[in-house]
Amino acid sequence: MELYDSTIREILGRVEANSPRSWPYEPGGAWPDNGANELVLGRDAAFELGGGNLPASNCTCVTTDGSLVPEDRIILVGQDLGALRADTPFARIVLLHVNSISGDDQEAFRTIRDMEFVKYHVFPQGYMMRVSPENGREQVRVSRQAVKRGISFRNIGDSFIRKYKENKLIDHACVIFVTGGRELCKELADTGKKVDAITLTLNHIMDGLATDCSVCSFKPVCDEIDGLKELHFKKGAKPMNI
Ligand code: SF4
Repeated sequence: MELYDSTIREILGRVEANSPRSWPYEPGGAWPDNGANELVLGRDAAFELGGGNLPASNCTCVTTDGSLVPEDRIILVGQDLGALRADTPFARIVLLHVNSISGDDQEAFRTIRDMEFVKYHVFPQGYMMRVSPENGREQVRVSRQAVKRGISFRNIGDSFIRKYKENKLIDHACVIFVTGGRELCKELADTGKKVDAITLTLNHIMDGLATDCSVCSFKPVCDEIDGLKELHFKKGAKPMNI
């Protein structure tokens, strides 16, 4: 699974150029989890990540190249939750190193979809995520109470990684948070759209529909991302049905 590798390199390059801080994963550092969505009312909120019209995005990239995600790690660019005083641009990116999904393409695709769903199954107390699959936005309302109790991105990263590691196919997970930099967050939101486009194209390919590249609406993605066309046509002249 190399479809996302060039995007992962692009993301890591951007992050490393912006003086990130980072921490190793500690399961015990995960923030208390509600087990279900908690409503944080506006009047109880300290601030909102990606609030209003500020950039707010998330994306998940999967690779089988262990050198791209060599360990479980949390990375932060910008201010931590305890230092923020107002709404801020925001991006959350997850990089996953997975084992043994390169064999069966359909299984690989199912695995990627399962991994995507993790973002709907992490419920840190006082950290209300609102994810919009239509436009790729992820806004987070953080309660004053959680800030008072010392919530940090390190805790939230530990919560996400703990959930990802329930999936035995995942060797390593890296969760990257970005706050503050409007330009950087906008660029990362665009990258998130590109990742969605790759996943959507993969979806189309996995449906095994016979089609002609010259009239296919996914052509711009297939022209840019190495491996998609090969995946569609690897069983000969016609798109494979797997
Ligand atoms: S390989 Fe061709 S037909 Fe298949 S999704 Fe890409 S552009 Fe469309």
